[in-house]
Amino acid sequence: ISASRQATGDERIRVCVRKRPLNKKEIKSGEEDIARVESTAAICVNEPKLAVDLTAYTLEHEFIFDEVFDEKGNATCFAYGQTGAGKTHTMIGSREIPGLYLLAAHDIFNLMQSGQHGSGLKLWVSFLKFIVLFDLLNRRNRLHAREDGSHRVCIAGLTETEAKDVHSLMQVLDYGHAVRSKGATGVNPDSSRSHAVLQIEVRDSNDKKLGRMSFIDLAGSERASDVTDTDKQTRMEGAEINQSLLALKECIRSIDQDSKHTPFRQSKLTHILKDSFIGDSRTCMIANISPTQSSCEHTLNTLRYADRVK
Ligand code: ADP
Ligand code: MG
Repeated sequence: ISASRQATGDERIRVCVRKRPLNKKEIKSGEEDIARVESTAAICVNEPKLAVDLTAYTLEHEFIFDEVFDEKGNATCFAYGQTGAGKTHTMIGSREIPGLYLLAAHDIFNLMQSGQHGSGLKLWVSFLKFIVLFDLLNRRNRLHAREDGSHRVCIAGLTETEAKDVHSLMQVLDYGHAVRSKGATGVNPDSSRSHAVLQIEVRDSNDKKLGRMSFIDLAGSERASDVTDTDKQTRMEGAEINQSLLALKECIRSIDQDSKHTPFRQSKLTHILKDSFIGDSRTCMIANISPTQSSCEHTLNTLRYADRVK
């Protein structure tokens, strides 16, 4: 389906796929694994089909990416995919397998302590979720994003917490994650309907920003088709998710084309992440997929989206 790409490790965008294993429930209910990792860059999905004479056959779809991680692999900062495909797991991990948050925290603190990048460096963390901007560290609803005089996008009133070591950083993240999953206000506690944006900023001893890493655990991609739901709230959120995922694709695509017209104003998500699309930035997208036959359609949609990002 797609032309093969040469990964040089030096590009500004990398697109990776991570397939999760079948879970116990799926195995018990006799679900088949239809996604086959063929190499470190190729994945094949066998879509079940019925011919006109009702004989069953499978249609094979092959996709090539920068990297394909199988059930046993580990990846690195957009996690895109259907609800249940493993986005949050990729970010947070489990007791046995650390997620990207912890891996990044270790790397950042190790680099800071090595003194290679100067002394007196500080780390500041913020964590928010939206469709409606919501501060996960202060349970404050409805924040507003604004552009300042130098065209930097800031979120007025967003909590920023200094983290002095890996442990305190992880404590902040656990807190934010718990608020996201439980829903502090009881309103809209379903994490599949919101994007979660974690930003870790490195500042020098004068509090000047040196760099920022953003990790985005995106809303479930299947939510983008809630636009015809009978519930008005769900329908509006679906439209907003749809809009932001489309804008995200366009913005990432424009990185490599050095476009002066990155359409980051097209959604709240891309507006907040303006820094990620301009200047000397590096972007990685992880497409999370479920292995099951019942997820086939969503899996193909996810792989096609990721395929078009680059
Ligand atoms: P999402 O955030 O995309 O909705 P989750 O990360 O919550 O999905 O994953 C759904 C379930 O599958 C969770 O119970 C999670 O622990 C499990 N899971 C996801 N990815 C993996 C993986 N690579 N290995 C093992 N279990 C996984
Ligand atoms: Mg999740």
